[in-house]
Amino acid sequence: VAASCQRHGATAVRDAIRSVVSEARGQIERGGAAPSIEAVVRRVLELLAESRPGYPEVINGTGILIHTNLGRAPRLEGLLPSYLALEYDLVAGERGERLAPIVDRLRRYFGAEAALVVSNNAAALFLLLAAHAAGREVVVSRGELIEIGGSFRLPELMAASGARLVEVGCTNRTHLRDYEQAVNEATAGLLVAHRSNFHMDGFVTSPALAELVNLGRRTGVPVWVDQGSGCHLDLGQFGLRHEPTVRELLATGIDAVLFSGDKLLGGPQAGILLGSSRALGPLRQHPLRRALRPDKSVLVALAATLDAFLAGQPQAVPLYRLLGTRADELARRARRIARRLRASGVSVEVVATRAALGGGTTPEQTLPSWALALPGKAALAERLRGGAPAVVTRTEANHVLVDLSAVFSEQDRSLTTALLAALTPGTE
Ligand SMILES: *Cc1c(COP(=O)(O)O)cnc(C)c1O
Repeated sequence: VAASCQRHGATAVRDAIRSVVSEARGQIERGGAAPSIEAVVRRVLELLAESRPGYPEVINGTGILIHTNLGRAPRLEGLLPSYLALEYDLVAGERGERLAPIVDRLRRYFGAEAALVVSNNAAALFLLLAAHAAGREVVVSRGELIEIGGSFRLPELMAASGARLVEVGCTNRTHLRDYEQAVNEATAGLLVAHRSNFHMDGFVTSPALAELVNLGRRTGVPVWVDQGSGCHLDLGQFGLRHEPTVRELLATGIDAVLFSGDKLLGGPQAGILLGSSRALGPLRQHPLRRALRPDKSVLVALAATLDAFLAGQPQAVPLYRLLGTRADELARRARRIARRLRASGVSVEVVATRAALGGGTTPEQTLPSWALALPGKAALAERLRGGAPAVVTRTEANHVLVDLSAVFSEQDRSLTTALLAALTPGTE
């Protein structure tokens, strides 16, 4: 019991003991036998195991690296200081600019003229539209009227911002002339939305971004890109298809690009806007900006994430440490865990799998990975989710798969313990 004070805190342990002792008293008062001290201790430990924090830690065995339900990109370790120079200039000893350190890093890393950070990408788009397009028209291709899941629907968000959506083209094909014909005095901007979570193939076309930028120049209408994923490194190096990075998008001359902080940037939840001072200036002045501002913990994590990329050390960011782990290393770790499980009589296979980046980043594309295949179905998956730490898995045919692509090597030991506890009940 003393050992569990470390893990659960003395108060929780005391409360569990009191509750078990009072249960036992009641039992004795009703004429029952007094439980043995061993039984009391067992019950206390059970109670403690059942008590979980509001957001329990999870080992991600799903093979989806950016899992929206598990917090998207894994977060950098490290604690927020109690007090920090958040809006304080330590040199001058007076009030400083809250976003200055982030804006400086974003501009350097992405080569952008101006930058702004809000609470998430939906907020970024909302602020952009509210500041530039309230009561005016925004032109969007019918092939890009996206729903991201968890209630982000482009047409609805646009309506809420006060912008009027003007749809052009068809689901599969939109031409430059479609945009051309839609532009008039009421047009506030052309919005391009990235097809983050689906893929269109076959008889499809849409104008190149450069053509839209050109049209925007000719007509004096800005071009905005809801890029979404925040792709900033060449994905080709991880065996995925190259897609235009945020830097490459900016180089086409678009007015603004916006994306999430917790997808391919590998940072905390945030909405990042980059572009010209002309595009971002009105957002900075807008009263909604204050309503959408990110918490200090986000700014601290974002600065540290950007510092890693600026230093050319993407592997210091947890998502890129996972992405940079080679499949044969995953296989080696899977075999080692399997040996430990077999030594306890558990039957387990090591199988090659395909993992996914997830989070609406690279739909239809997978990465080579390795998993532990455990004979069992929903009941085993449920036991694993109930363990401490909880292990979230993928179920396939008659197996529960624990894919190692999103498991950090330092979690292997606690993963093994959790698997043993679920597979050999009573022997932990
Ligand atoms: C993910 C995504 C969003 C929503 O971003 P949040 O940060 O979840 O608000 C919006 N647009 C695109 C294209 C996306 O990929």
